[in-house]
Amino acid sequence: MTRTALISGASIAGPALAYWLHHHGFRAVVVERASTVRGGGYPIDVRASAIEVVDRMGLLPALRDAHVDTRGTSFVNSRGKVIARITPEEFTGSPSGRDVELPRGELARLLYEHTRADVEYVFDDSITALDQRSDGVRVTFRHGPARTVDLVVGADGLHSTVRRLAFGAETDFRRDLGFAFAGFGLERTGDTARVEREAIVHNAPGRMAGYYALRGQPGLIGLLAFATPPAFTVDPGDADGQRDVVAAAFADAGWEVPRLLDGMRTAEDFFFDTVSQIRMPRWSSGPVALVGDAAYAPALLSGQGTSLALIGAYVLAAELARAGGDPAVAFESYEQALRPFVERNQDLARSGGATLIPATRTALWLRDRVLAALPHLGPLKRVLSGRIDAAAQSFSLDPVPVGLTPPRPAPSPTSAGPCRAPARDGAGSSGSRPSPGGPRDQG
Ligand SMILES: Cc1cc2nc3c(=O)[nH]c(=O)nc-3n(C[C@H](O)[C@H](O)[C@H](O)COP(=O)(O)OP(=O)(O)OC[C@H]3O[C@@H](n4cnc5c(N)ncnc54)[C@H](O)[C@@H]3O)c2cc1C
Repeated sequence: MTRTALISGASIAGPALAYWLHHHGFRAVVVERASTVRGGGYPIDVRASAIEVVDRMGLLPALRDAHVDTRGTSFVNSRGKVIARITPEEFTGSPSGRDVELPRGELARLLYEHTRADVEYVFDDSITALDQRSDGVRVTFRHGPARTVDLVVGADGLHSTVRRLAFGAETDFRRDLGFAFAGFGLERTGDTARVEREAIVHNAPGRMAGYYALRGQPGLIGLLAFATPPAFTVDPGDADGQRDVVAAAFADAGWEVPRLLDGMRTAEDFFFDTVSQIRMPRWSSGPVALVGDAAYAPALLSGQGTSLALIGAYVLAAELARAGGDPAVAFESYEQALRPFVERNQDLARSGGATLIPATRTALWLRDRVLAALPHLGPLKRVLSGRIDAAAQSFSLDPVPVGLTPPRPAPSPTSAGPCRAPARDGAGSSGSRPSPGGPRDQG
């Protein structure tokens, strides 16, 4: 009998998981709180094994078309003079042209369009209760009728409802990294009309303001981030209150910040949150599991949230297929395969704040000197900037996808490099079929 998985959240992890579950013969239902797939958002990166995941989905050409191909980030002083400029490759340590960077909303839309014919999507609804029974999980919704399904997966982000219902309060698992950020669409005016495929960033101690000019987009993406006091909280339902908090944090700021604040006030796609991670001792409880930010948000400072969501979805679906749909076996294997990789990538965010939002004048001065020197360091620069790429590369997918035939006959040149046989310690490998992936040797 076909097993049914109910997935909460239709952003990145949810539709990717639905795709792979359908591929493995499950019936996937995705419930999303918003009325449609939510657009907008900061450009996000897809790297290493996550590129292989979208390639196996047949989506890599579409992602490459949407690649914003940022040329660099310029760090400017209060008069707009460039102090340092680095390329994405210098920042991450990845070779040029390998990673894909695209707007978050565009990736979510591509995943949705790619899956909507095979997956049932329910918008404008949300899970309100989970009741584990002998015949499955009885799920109650805010609007729609209750359903009984075989398993439930929370792919509903940092503030996951499934996590709260199955594991407890968010505060038990959320680690705030001491920053908050706002992202929003912005009109081009004055000097910004000439900026192309570039991010412009201005820092003051404990504050960062900037904008992105993405390829193919008429407007800009504004970004305001600041250090927060301990126990800082935001009311998630009060966007105007959030705008007030951001405005207060930048009240006396110079450069182009007043223009950014004006744009933020009227932006419809305003997004605000704390820079936080989710760290959990377990990612599953009975027939309920979590994937993506809901389970292991690494925070934007790591630059790895989307890649973890895509890889997590792939591995979770593959483990369910290998285990014949038995959640107890599959969820254990999923966690064993992925946890070292997840934690290594979460650890990236520890130093991210010091680079992007130095807290003191001295730290800011030092950061600027290091960034200015970086392009001239030759191979030495990998010591300073190669951590993101090294962490991103530390997980390999199985060389042959678990279950069915891969959707395309041969890997593309872009994906041939990162894939090799997994080096897992036999975790969860109860059968003779290849495992969906595992950590690479950390040599
Ligand atoms: C609108 C939006 C804007 C974002 N902008 C940025 C950004 O500017 N910078 C950045 O670093 N990261 C941003 N993120 C987060 C980033 O997309 C994720 O870190 C990453 O892509 C992992 O994806 P995910 O699918 O695990 O979680 P998310 O992308 O967070 O997706 C979670 C999904 O679950 C839905 N959802 C939440 N609660 C419920 C519920 N109770 N019932 C049903 N559905 C629910 C949400 O609407 C969303 O579609 C944004 C996320 C969203 C949703």
